[in-house]
Amino acid sequence: MTKEYDYLIVGAGLYGSAFAYKANRMGKKCLVIDKRPHTGGNIFCETVVDIRVHTYGPHIFHTSNKQVWDFVNTLVGFNHFILSPIANYK
Ligand SMILES: Cc1cc2nc3c(=O)[nH]c(=O)nc-3n(C[C@H](O)[C@H](O)[C@H](O)COP(=O)(O)OP(=O)(O)OC[C@H]3O[C@@H](n4cnc5c(N)ncnc54)[C@H](O)[C@@H]3O)c2cc1C
Repeated sequence: MTKEYDYLIVGAGLYGSAFAYKANRMGKKCLVIDKRPHTGGNIFCETVVDIRVHTYGPHIFHTSNKQVWDFVNTLVGFNHFILSPIANYK
C-alpha cells in the first residue's frame, strides 16, 4: 500500500502553511487541514466593500533576519507601513 501523504498538518496558519510549503519543495506530500473555512490562520484578511479587513486583528510583519525577509518576499507582496506610535509623557 502506498502512503498518500508524508505529513498531516493541523492548522493552515503561518506555521502550518510555511511548513507545508517547505516540505512540499523538498518532495514531501502534505495534507493541511483547518477548522476554519480559510487558510492564513490569524493573519487572514478579507475584502468587505472594497476594504481589506484584518478579520482577527491587524498584523505587522517584522524581522531583522535577511534570510527570512528574502524568503517571505518570494511568496507575497507587502504594503509599506511604518509604525509611528505617539506617546505623551508628563
Ligand atoms: C490580533 C492579533 C494581532 C497580532 N499581530 C501580530 C503582528 O503584528 N506581528 C506578528 O508577528 N504577530 C502578530 N500576532 C501573532 C500572530 O497572529 C501569530 O504569531 C501567527 O499568526 C501565528 O501563526 P500560527 O500558524 O502559529 O497560528 P495561527 O495563525 O493561530 O494558525 C493556527 C491555525 O490552526 C487552526 N487550528 C487550531 N487548532 C485546530 C484544530 N484542533 N483542528 C483544526 N485546525 C486547528 C486554527 O483555526 C488556525 O487557523 C497577532 C495575533 C493576534 C491575535
